[in-house]
Amino acid sequence: MTTSLIALGSGSRGNCFALECEGAVLLIDAGFSAKEVTRRAERAGLDLGGLVGVALTHEHGDHASGALRLAARHGAPLLASPGTWRALTRSGNEGATHCAIGSALRVEVGPFTVWGAPIAHDAAEPLAVAVESLDGVKIGVAYDLGRPTAAVRLLLRELTAVILEANHDEILLRTSGYPPSVQQRIAGSAGHLSNRAAADLLVEAMHPGLGTVLLAHLSQRCNNEELARNTVETALRRKGFRGVVDVARQDDPVGPLRLLRCDGAQMTFAI
Ligand SMILES: [Zn+2]
Ligand SMILES: [Zn+2]
Repeated sequence: MTTSLIALGSGSRGNCFALECEGAVLLIDAGFSAKEVTRRAERAGLDLGGLVGVALTHEHGDHASGALRLAARHGAPLLASPGTWRALTRSGNEGATHCAIGSALRVEVGPFTVWGAPIAHDAAEPLAVAVESLDGVKIGVAYDLGRPTAAVRLLLRELTAVILEANHDEILLRTSGYPPSVQQRIAGSAGHLSNRAAADLLVEAMHPGLGTVLLAHLSQRCNNEELARNTVETALRRKGFRGVVDVARQDDPVGPLRLLRCDGAQMTFAI
């Protein structure tokens, strides 16, 4: 039994990740239209016929725009904090059903157990989403993070695979031409993690079981794949990290990354 991770797309124009285990599929965020998520899944060779749930970090469009429709279409529950569900369904639920998740609310869907850790972001009740697969692999998705909460720091210490925001390069943000108020919002406590902040957080949370780091939610204007990867990978390698560092893309799927757990040490293989 193995669990695979596919980044269907990530960035300010939409975020969607998929976990697959024995034909069961869990989406984490669905920030493209249902049609676009379906198209990307087909491109990545992922069969959404096995969809067992759609887990959401929060209700913003770049994370949730296709979530209700996809969940309803496949008869899969939408897993989200109560606040996210309320905010998302203000003008109707499109026939989707809700299962509440939180730090003390764990939900099982197919081979996946899903829960969350609260984050600081300008949304109703945002979470970092965590998933444990039946084979013992633990995956967490944390972005739109602002300043990482104690709950997120704790969560990162137990994961096999981390999908973490590396939103901007601090120098590119300062020279981006964004007005100071926008720059402050992006870099502020309810905004986004920089490459440097992501590297620091990962170095702090690094443990022998961490096998995969997938950087996500890169700003198109204030970041690029190479800068994000270099900043984070250099910091991690310096501390002895031997796993995989990859970067999710806005327009193309990345993966599947096959996540394996071996006697306390995890390995990742790109297949
Ligand atoms: Zn957001
Ligand atoms: Zn976002």
